[in-house]
Amino acid sequence: MKKFFAAIVAVLVLTVSFASVLAASYVGNANSGKFHFADCSSVNKMNPANRVNFNTRDEAIAAGYVPCKRCNP
Ligand SMILES: [Zn+2]
Repeated sequence: MKKFFAAIVAVLVLTVSFASVLAASYVGNANSGKFHFADCSSVNKMNPANRVNFNTRDEAIAAGYVPCKRCNP
């Protein structure tokens, strides 16, 4: 029975962490210091290592990121 609960907890943790990645509306580039809408073409070209997710625009600005000139978030 303990294994059953452990499996359920593992699935829940995975679902929540996956959902939080999908829910990110803004993506910052740690290398350029700019942030984008998650669907900006620059985000796809970005090195995943430089990717910083933000849920809100204010969060990105508070972290010192400036808006991208292409997607103008
Ligand atoms: Zn952009």
